[in-house]
Amino acid sequence: MSTIKLDIVTAEKLILSDEANFVVVPGSMGELGIFPKHAPLLSTLEVGEVRVTKAEEEYSFFISGGFIEILPGQITILANTAERAENIDEARAKEARDRAEALTTQIGEEIDIAQAEASLKRATVRLKVMQKRRASRAGGPAGTSLGS
Ligand code: ATP
Repeated sequence: MSTIKLDIVTAEKLILSDEANFVVVPGSMGELGIFPKHAPLLSTLEVGEVRVTKAEEEYSFFISGGFIEILPGQITILANTAERAENIDEARAKEARDRAEALTTQIGEEIDIAQAEASLKRATVRLKVMQKRRASRAGGPAGTSLGS
């Protein structure tokens, strides 16, 4: 089975450098599935899940948007922030979600609603990515879409 090199980087660090058989990313126009012979592409990415298939294994990451560059033999994801699903801190994501939810209901205050909603989305999707991984480890359905 052919593979393509995949790097996931943020401004701060290299999150992943691996060979993959198939990669799914949260593209701006919906999920984008990438096989090794994919045509070159440069695109923006949304808050969502990156799924990596390597041999029989599938693992995933949360990213809070960014860019993807596909070149022959190489995929580079430049993410605003990225965490491997098993490294997501559930308590922190729940706190961020609750904080953001409270902010979005404080109408009339000097609240940046767009910022609160973006924070709420990050926290909600982090929790979904984490819970999906947990379910798949427990023998539940894997590979289902997260929606938006
Ligand atoms: P918070 O309000 O909890 O900081 P946030 O969505 O504002 O959440 P980001 O700006 O997306 O946080 O990320 C800041 C840094 O913290 C990044 O390095 C990111 O990978 C990490 N991070 C944020 N939330 C979590 C989490 N729940 N689990 C693990 N790492 C996290």
